[in-house]
Amino acid sequence: EENRSRLVEFQQDKYLRGLIAQGFDEESCVSRYQSLWKNKGPQAHQPSPHLISKLRNYEALHRQCGPNTESFKKASEYLNSSIHNKTSNHSSSSDCSYVIWTACDGLGNRMMTLVSAFLYALLTQKILLVEPKSNISSLFCEPFPGTTWQIPSSFPSIIKNFGKDSPQTYDYILKWQKPEPMIPPYAYMYLAHDYTDKDKRFFCDEDQTFIQKVPWIIIKSNLYFVPSLFLMPSFQNELNNLFPEKETVFHFLGRYLFHPTNSVWSSITTYYWAHLARADEKIGIQIRTFEIKSDPFDKLLHQILTCVISENDLLPKINGMIRKPENHESAKSNRTKAVLMTSLDARYSDAIKMMYKLHSTQTGEIIRVFQPSNETKQRFSNQAHDRKALAEMYLLSLADKLVTSSKSTFGYVAQSLGGLKPWILYSRPHEYNATNSGCQRALSMEPCFHVPPTLDCETGKRVDKGKIVGCVRHCEDMNRTSGLKLY
Ligand code: GDP
Repeated sequence: EENRSRLVEFQQDKYLRGLIAQGFDEESCVSRYQSLWKNKGPQAHQPSPHLISKLRNYEALHRQCGPNTESFKKASEYLNSSIHNKTSNHSSSSDCSYVIWTACDGLGNRMMTLVSAFLYALLTQKILLVEPKSNISSLFCEPFPGTTWQIPSSFPSIIKNFGKDSPQTYDYILKWQKPEPMIPPYAYMYLAHDYTDKDKRFFCDEDQTFIQKVPWIIIKSNLYFVPSLFLMPSFQNELNNLFPEKETVFHFLGRYLFHPTNSVWSSITTYYWAHLARADEKIGIQIRTFEIKSDPFDKLLHQILTCVISENDLLPKINGMIRKPENHESAKSNRTKAVLMTSLDARYSDAIKMMYKLHSTQTGEIIRVFQPSNETKQRFSNQAHDRKALAEMYLLSLADKLVTSSKSTFGYVAQSLGGLKPWILYSRPHEYNATNSGCQRALSMEPCFHVPPTLDCETGKRVDKGKIVGCVRHCEDMNRTSGLKLY
């Protein structure tokens, strides 16, 4: 019976209302057609017909231009010869042009920039490829049918030399523009948090006209730069048609791109069915602490309890008396809540678990607290660690209600994939020292662009872009003069 109802749940809206392409080998990537996201049915956000047809067209273009095609071979040969032979005529004989995404920072950050780079590719008829060493293929299935987004390992070594100070970033582009504009064979776009005002000209229409002609663009970023694409007049109309509901950009593109591989999916589903599925309500709590001098434990635990119990009734208050062990058993018919907590640190969930173990609740509800892993610290280039992170972001996205930590891209992935407007904890010392509250409710499910450009492209003056256009505002979890987010 249980298996049957699981199957029914899986089969409903198998293609996420046309978002997901048909024609993949289902066994090779079970998660693609078995998403566990709840908000289907009338509550679901609806991808626009324009987005769906744009994705199908993109898939066709990727099949035509992707690795293993004649066009790709031509474009790579051209690249190779221009690197080695400076006198080449600088005109690619391929009709295809490419955006190469390179890895930077944690998995949440990487997913932010993958979506951003993909949207840029969609808007500019470029093909999105991912760098081979990025670990992406062990985490995610191929997103585009009948082709690959992995760059072959034989590809020219231009990617590994790319850093903030590489000569091929913005000044290089400018040099090619004067005196006679000539198109360089490739260019680096450095769009990470410490990028310069020159790098930020990526978001100026005038510069884009030129950049888009470069056949190979390599992007390094750790930011969700989508909101600034919405501020560019040349993209505005198309973006409005693609996303009539602005806050669904990551929601749809993330659901479109990120299908966990079978091994990650198996750990997600095993955990889900074992601990979460049967609860009447699932509460996700994401605790992210960044390295700070003093241990935030006591204060942050206070913030969490204030947010979820006193201020928002996400979890019930406890009764003062320590409860007798048999109460637990006799309360089988009571409503249950499963609390999924994720953190590098186990102490927060241990404390909350113990609290509900020792005390009955004022509502009579049974509260069960789970934490899938506690990795103690962030690790880089570690596959097992990244898989746990992905599994946990996905599990959090399955919650009915979600609490996140401020400024964390890990939380952003969970909220946008899940279609959830989270309660954002005041989780950083400067925040909780400045407020008596535990958290605030997000106004939209979109991620925040932490370091948007602030220069006006034409005048070169600083402007507050949070005040310019209706669809973007300053983020809830940053000070109110930086950070941009779609609403
Ligand atoms: P951000 O730093 O919070 O914006 O999120 P990122 O995902 O970019 O980087 C944090 C990285 O630390 C994650 O990718 C994980 O590798 C690790 N990490 C942080 N919090 C958690 C957690 O709750 N669970 C697990 N498994 N890993 C975490």
